[in-house]
Amino acid sequence: MDASHVDGDLVNVLFSEDDIQQRLAEMAAQIEADYEGKDILLVGVLKGAIMVMADLSRAFSRHVEIDWMAVSSYGSGTKSSGVVRILKDLDTDISGRHVLIVEDIIDTGLTLSWLVSNLSSRKPASVEIATLLRKPDALQMSVDVKYVGWDIPNEFVIGYGLDYSERYRNLRCIGTLAPHVYS
Ligand code: 5GP
Ligand code: MG
Ligand code: MG
Repeated sequence: MDASHVDGDLVNVLFSEDDIQQRLAEMAAQIEADYEGKDILLVGVLKGAIMVMADLSRAFSRHVEIDWMAVSSYGSGTKSSGVVRILKDLDTDISGRHVLIVEDIIDTGLTLSWLVSNLSSRKPASVEIATLLRKPDALQMSVDVKYVGWDIPNEFVIGYGLDYSERYRNLRCIGTLAPHVYS
């Protein structure tokens, strides 16, 4: 759906459908150049990364494999605690593989730190991270994020896979949620 279908729920549109496709194409080109001669396994984290995965993977001009994990963070309220439970593990044995984690957004990065160490223990050839969005707190993270679409301010954003209470994932653009929706 388009922004016009949720009119009033958005403060503003941060990134249009075109902005997103253009940035993902640039990221894919960079990734392809960096991984020349290497097979890539894209690992998406459900559910937020579904749109990024769909469009980033199709922006490549060569074959990539795709797999998914679903995890749940234990923790109170809205912030993740870094204690993570695997709800759905990979189907793929990643030993010796070049793994690129595909994320929608990194906030504290706690879940991602856990995921990187979990995947690293399975003896992959490499583990890197690509995220469409990154918030300021993520810069405190010990984990290095190799590919970032955009750094954004500390605001709650929705659309393009990102939800508020499972809503707005199917919005084509990314926007800032109006406070009246959640207060
Ligand atoms: P982290 O472990 O990095 O704090 O948590 C990242 C997860 O929190 C994201 O995958 C996403 O599910 C959620 N999240 C963080 N910031 C936002 C935001 O601005 N909008 C939405 N919809 N989800 C967010
Ligand atoms: Mg995510
Ligand atoms: Mg969510």
